Amino acid sequence: MSEATINKHSENGVKDSFRDRLATVDAKGKRKWIYAQKPTGRFYNVRTWVSWGFFALFFSLPFIKTNGRPLFQFNIPDAKFIIFGKIFWPQDFFIFGITTITFIVFVVLFTAAFGRLFCGWVCPQTIFMEMLFRKVEYLIEGDAAQQKLLKKSEWNGVKIRKKLTKHVAFYFLAFIIANFFLAYIIGVDELWKIITEPPGKHIGGLFSILIFSGVFYAVYAYFREQACTVICPYGRLQSVLLDRNSMIVAYDYKRGEPRGKFKKAKTAELNMGDCIDCFQCVKVCPTGIDIRNGTQMECVGCTACIDACNKMMDATARERGLIRYASENNIANGTRQRYTGRMKFYSVLLIILAGLLSFLLITRKNVDGTIVRAAGILYQERGTDSISNLYTIKIINKTIQDVPLTLKLENEAGRIVEAEGQTIQVKREGQGKSSFFIILPKTAINKRKTNLKIGLYEGDQRITVLQTNFMGPFSKF
Ligand code: SF4
Ligand code: SF4
Repeated sequence: MSEATINKHSENGVKDSFRDRLATVDAKGKRKWIYAQKPTGRFYNVRTWVSWGFFALFFSLPFIKTNGRPLFQFNIPDAKFIIFGKIFWPQDFFIFGITTITFIVFVVLFTAAFGRLFCGWVCPQTIFMEMLFRKVEYLIEGDAAQQKLLKKSEWNGVKIRKKLTKHVAFYFLAFIIANFFLAYIIGVDELWKIITEPPGKHIGGLFSILIFSGVFYAVYAYFREQACTVICPYGRLQSVLLDRNSMIVAYDYKRGEPRGKFKKAKTAELNMGDCIDCFQCVKVCPTGIDIRNGTQMECVGCTACIDACNKMMDATARERGLIRYASENNIANGTRQRYTGRMKFYSVLLIILAGLLSFLLITRKNVDGTIVRAAGILYQERGTDSISNLYTIKIINKTIQDVPLTLKLENEAGRIVEAEGQTIQVKREGQGKSSFFIILPKTAINKRKTNLKIGLYEGDQRITVLQTNFMGPFSKF
C-alpha cells in the first residue's frame, strides 16, 4: 500500500487501509458473503413499521384511480406518465426538465442535511432486501450463525429442503414484485389482461414479467448489498454530497476510544473508552463494514449498528448512543446540527425551482397543440385578390374525453379551410393531426411574415390559442 493511500483517521489515528478494498471482496478479489446478524432494537422496530407502510403503498397504489386514470403510471414504452392523476407527455418536456432539476437540488439539500436517511429508511432496495427477503431467510435458515453452519455443512436432506424452500420463496416474492412493477408501467387493467387472457395474445407482457422476476430474484438472492455499494449512483455520490455537518450514522470515537475488552471496573478508572470491541455493530451490518472506521460509502444508514451497540451499552451499564445519528462536527467538537451556508443556498434554489414548477403545472393546458407551415411551399395565389398558406396542426388531448375541435382565425380577416373536414377529432389521452389552409385577402398582407393567432374551440368554448405565421409575397402588390 502506498504512502498516499494511508490516511489518518481524523481524530483517533486509525489507519484508513480499510478504504483500499471493499468489505465484500477478499484479498483474491472473490466475493465475501455477508451473513448479517438479525438486528433487534428500537430503530429496527420503527423501520419494520415504516416498511409495512411502504409495502401497503407499493402494493395498493396501482389499484388507486382518479377520474378513471391510475394515480401513478410510468409508461416508458409509450412515453406517457401519470403523476397524481395528471397525464404528462413528451410535449411536457419543459416540466420534466424543471422537475428533474428540482428533484436533484432536493436530493443534494436533503443529503447535505440528513445524509443517507433515504437509503436506510425508504429506499425500495433496502426495504425489500432487509425487511422482506432477509426476514424470509432468517425464517427458513435461521440467524447468521446458523446460515454459516448450513453453508459449511454437507449436502443432506435438511440442507436441500432449506435451500430449495428459500429459493422457491425468493422467486415467488420476486414474481409478485415483478407483476406490481409492471403494473406501474402498463397499469393494472393491462396487467390483468396479461394474466387472464390466452398467453399467445400477450407474449411481450409475459416475457417482461419473466425478465423482471429473474432480475429481482437475482438481486435479492445473490447480488444483494452490492446493488448499493457497487451500482447505485446515489451511494457513490456520497463523498461529494456529505460534509462535516451532515447527519449520518456515526461512531462517537471521542467517547469510544481507546477501545478494549469489557472489564467490570469503571472505564474512567481504566483510562478506556466506552467501546468494548464486541464487534456486534459489525456483525449486524448488511454491507459488512465497521462503522468505527468512520464514514464509508458502503454505509446505507440502516441503523442496525445503532441498535446493536445500544444493546451492548445497556448490557454493560453504559450510556446509549456510542453509535448514533450525528454529524462529524457534532462528534469532534460537540457542536449541534447547523443550518450551513451551503444548505441555505440550496434551500433558496429549491424554493425558486419549486415556485417555477408550480407555475408551470398550474398554467399547463389539458389540450394543446402546435401549428407548422407545410415544408417546401411558400404560398399560393387564390384568384386575384387572396393568398393562402398550407399548415399542419398536431393536437394533444390530455383529458379522459374525446375532444372535437374547430379552428378559428383570431386576429386577421381571413378564413380557414380544413383539408380533412371542419372538425378535428382528438381521442382521449391521444393525439390528433390535420391539415388546413389559411386564406388572407391581399389587402391584409403588408409584410413578408404576418403573425397569426388561431383559436382552438370545443363547441363555443375557446380552449387555447396557438400562434403561427403567414408567408406572403416579398413586395407589396
Ligand atoms: S454501518 Fe451501520 S448504518 Fe451503516 S450499513 Fe452498516 S449497520 Fe447499517
Ligand atoms: S457494538 Fe458498540 S461497543 Fe461493540 S464494538 Fe461496536 S461500537 Fe464497540
